[in-house]
This record gives sequence, structure tokens and C-alpha cells, in this order.
Amino acid sequence: MASETRICQNCKSDFIIEPEDFNFYEKIKVPPPTFCPECRKQRRLTWRNDIILYSRSCDLCEKSILSIYSPDSGLTVYCVKCWWSDKWDPKEYGKDYDFSKPFFEQFRELQQRVPIIALANDDGLISGSINCEYTQDFSNAKNCYMVFVAWKLEDSLYSHYILDSRGMVDCLSSWDNSDSVYEGIFAERCYHCRYVYYSVALSDCAFCLDCRDSSNCFMCTGLRHKQYCFKNRQYTKEEYKKIFEEYRLDTFSGVERAKKEFEGMLYLKPRKFANLRNCTNSIGDYLSNCKNIRDGFVLQRVEDCRWVESSDAPKSSYDLSTGGELEQCYEGITPDHSYQSRFAIFSWKNRDVFYVDGVHSSTNVFGCCGLKKAQYCILNKQYSKEEYDEMLPKIQVHMAQVPYMDKNGVAYRFGEFFPAELSYFGYNESVAQDHFLLTEQEARKRNFNWRGKLQMTVGKETMQTDEIPDGIADINDTILNEILMCIECKRNYRIVSQELQFYRKLAIPLPRRCFYCRHRTRVNFRNPFKLWHRACHCAGEKSENGVYANTGTHPSHPKGEPCPNEFETSYAPERPEIVYCEQCYNAEIA
Ligand SMILES: [Zn+2]
Ligand SMILES: [Zn+2]
Ligand SMILES: [Zn+2]
Ligand SMILES: [Zn+2]
Ligand SMILES: [Zn+2]
Repeated sequence: MASETRICQNCKSDFIIEPEDFNFYEKIKVPPPTFCPECRKQRRLTWRNDIILYSRSCDLCEKSILSIYSPDSGLTVYCVKCWWSDKWDPKEYGKDYDFSKPFFEQFRELQQRVPIIALANDDGLISGSINCEYTQDFSNAKNCYMVFVAWKLEDSLYSHYILDSRGMVDCLSSWDNSDSVYEGIFAERCYHCRYVYYSVALSDCAFCLDCRDSSNCFMCTGLRHKQYCFKNRQYTKEEYKKIFEEYRLDTFSGVERAKKEFEGMLYLKPRKFANLRNCTNSIGDYLSNCKNIRDGFVLQRVEDCRWVESSDAPKSSYDLSTGGELEQCYEGITPDHSYQSRFAIFSWKNRDVFYVDGVHSSTNVFGCCGLKKAQYCILNKQYSKEEYDEMLPKIQVHMAQVPYMDKNGVAYRFGEFFPAELSYFGYNESVAQDHFLLTEQEARKRNFNWRGKLQMTVGKETMQTDEIPDGIADINDTILNEILMCIECKRNYRIVSQELQFYRKLAIPLPRRCFYCRHRTRVNFRNPFKLWHRACHCAGEKSENGVYANTGTHPSHPKGEPCPNEFETSYAPERPEIVYCEQCYNAEIA
């Protein structure tokens, strides 16, 4: 089969379906998509809320709980314990398939009625997480607070997408046995570090970017196997100690000063076009131990995947917004441990399922919500194997003939993910906002929902920001009783006891911003999950912009001549970074 250019139903731009894509769609028994990859991702992410939590009550036991679903979403929400109990039966909500109505309309009605789990975590369940109530998309952990999309974790706070680590506070996309890291973005195997970015195997480092296998380095970029460096210059242990201590990173004013200086250093040295480690035949960014990946981001141990992000060990899958240890899955939001799961939201351990939300350990189900250990169900109604096998093709034909039409006239047939306008989240609650930032007006124009008022407390502060002592040493335990106000968004926030202990242990000043503003800053610092085709910035003896003078020998071109290499990079053309191909980069970063 040849490549085909199609026009996206939604944004009307061209996109290409390649022969191996056609093979994939055939293998998992779905028609090729009618939305382009970007529109598919945006639509999928409108169904994902990672960090916005609401206080509400469990609709079964009536206890007050936290949930990613707003109290005015109209959903029936059960706490984690009630939801997993046998006090209710999801099949009681089952109904006949109505061939006079679009499938997506019927499915949405079902979603509205079947109880949904307040948070996708295993807190307090048998052999589940311990003391991890404030978490979402989360499992196998102990003593964590405000941690989202994480597993195998201990003693961590205020972080997003963290795996196999402990003592992680204010971190984003970090994994692989890190311990005691504050403000790490893409930090792997780091120990006792603060403000470390795109770095591997560091200990006792601060303000480092793209550094590896180093210890006791401060304000450095692109280092390998170094010790006692400051601004990329070598010092003795004593000199280094003196410089480091002068910065007073235990004070808020010291950190602000260091941050400013560090920002000035970020554009002076070449960056590698992509972070790919131990990968073969792979295109994307931040991939480690991957094989045959196209358009992948933040992946480890992944094979034969395309348009997959923030995932751990999926195989042969397309279009996933987070997923782990799965195979042949398509268009999913955390369809973990599944095989041939198509169009799934928080549904685990399934085989051969289509259109499921909160369905677990089930096989052969279509258009269901909240089922556990089920087989041969459609819209939560039980069928025999024969009936199911007969119904399935009929429904697929019906979905093609009677599509769901959204308000902009886009048709949703079999093979498309759930329409964004039917999402139970507002666009501003969803992860789509992290990747495709829109104003309310823009979002509404493009037919996305908007949550008018996000729950947040303001004006209740008991302490003004300028009353907070500058240094951590001067903070006493009474701070735990105070209500503080974020200097950016004015939201009230508190310091929790576990957090204070961590700040004291690592000598970190109290944050003046709320978690949401800190998270937003980290998300903005990270490169987008998007690729541009660009050429190497090496002009021969210098970088194209003249900022960096080469020191090494570049194998890809004669000295004095520009490098001919091109690549796919997550550095957009308008960005200020100097971006080198692998060979030019390696020649400079020794
Ligand atoms: Zn599109
Ligand atoms: Zn309950
Ligand atoms: Zn804030
Ligand atoms: Zn080059
Ligand atoms: Zn070069």
C-alpha cells in the first residue's frame, strides 16, 4: 500500500498516512483516522485532567473526598474504596443499543449515569498505595502528596510523571532511581540535587542543564564527568564550596539571583537536536531504551510505537497519552496492561475492547463504563458470545451511517475517539491546555467546553509574602498553620509538614508560588511534544548565530564549512537555542 495524503476533518490541513500506519490500523481492526495527529492528540487530551482536584462528596458513602471531577460536572462520583467494592453493579445501568441514535450520544448518556471513580489511584486499597490520597493516575507508592501520573514512588510531593524514585519534590518527567531532587525536569538517576534539567546521574548539583555523570557542579551546562565546576570552570573543592555558599541557595533571594544568572547561560552552548539515549531507529524527544519510534515523547523501553507520549514499556501502539506495559493499543488515555484496547479512558488489563471508560480486567466489551471482569457487554448490557459477535459489525456499520455530528459539523464515525465537546472536563481543566494553550474565547470558538469557575481559595491568607523569612533556617513550625498567597495567581496555599521537613533537609527556601503556577512554569520550560524539520546550526567554525565557537573536530563536514545534517527536533525554528546534530554536538560536549 502507498502513502496517502488526507485532509483532516477538523482543521482541514493535510496529513499523511504511511504504509506501515495502514498496516497498523488493519491489524487492530479500525479504519484509518479522519483527524490529523495533532487534532487527535488535542481531542484525546480534552478527556484527561491530571492536576486539578475538587473537594466534593462520595455519592455512595457520602464522605468528603477529592476528585478530578468538578461537583457541577453532573457525574455520579464514588470514592476509590466504594468504587472498587461490590456495593454496586455497573450492569444495572445497561441498556439496549438504539439504532436510531448516534453511538457517541448513547455512550455519553451512559457515562453520565454509571458511577465514576473519584481519582484513578490505589490509595488505601489492599496491596495498594499507602498515605497517597492527593494523587491521580497513580499507583504502587507510599507517602506522596499532590503527585500526578506516577508509580513506584516514595516520599514525593508536587510532581508530575515520576517513576521509580523517592524524595522528589516539584519535579516533572523524571525517573530511574532518583532520590532527593527538588525542581528536576527530565532528571534521571539524580541524587541530592536541585534545579537540574535534562540531566543524568548527577549528585549534589544545582542549576545544571544537560549534564551527566557529575557531582558538586553549580550553574553548568553540557558537562560530562566533572566535579567542582562553577559556570563550567574547574575549581578546587575549597574554592567551589566558598562560591556555592556565597549564593545562599537556602534563601529565597539567593535562589532568585541564581535563577536569573542561570537563565543567561542557557543559550550559549549547543544543544543536541533531541534527547535520545540507547535508541535505535527512533524519532522524537526524550526517549530512552526505545526501538522503532516515530513522533514519540518522554518514553522509556518502548517499541514500534507512533504518536505515543509519557509512557513506560508499551509495544506496537499508536496515539497514547500515557500508557504502560501494553500492546497493540490505539487512541488511549492510560489503557495500561491491555492488549488490543481501542479508544479507552483509564481502563486497565483489558483484551479486545472498544470505547471503554473505567473498564478493567475485561474482554470483548464495546461502549461500556465501570465494568470489572466482564465479557461480551455492549453499553453495559450482557450478551452471549454469539449475540455479541453478531451485534459488533452491525454497530460499526450503524456508526458509519449515523455518525455523531458535532456543533462544527464534524462527523464522528467508528474509528474516532470520543468527541471533545462531550468531554466531562472543561478545556481549561484538561491536559490539552498544557499542549495547546487557548483562551476561553478561542476554546469556545473551536467547540471545546470551558469550566466557568475553577475551585480555588483566595483572600484567606493569614501571612503576607513579605513576612515569610528569606532563609529556611528562620522558618519555624508555626508556618504549618499559616495560609499563604501565591505571588503569581493570588491563590491561597499551605505548607504541609512533610514538605517543610524536605525543605529543611535540603536547605531549600519556602516557595512563594502555588503548586499550579510552579507546575505551569515547568511545563513551559520543557520543549513541546512536537517536531520540526531543521538543519544543524553548525556553520563550520562557529554556530550559525556566531554565539558559540567550536573547539572539536566535526566528522560530518570539513572545518570551515557548514554542517549538511538535517533532523527532526522539538526546538521550534523561532527558538534561540543553538541546535546541533549528533556528530557536531558530540564533538563539542566531551
Ligand atoms: Zn487536524
Ligand atoms: Zn465512598
Ligand atoms: Zn499560583
Ligand atoms: Zn552538524
Ligand atoms: Zn559541525
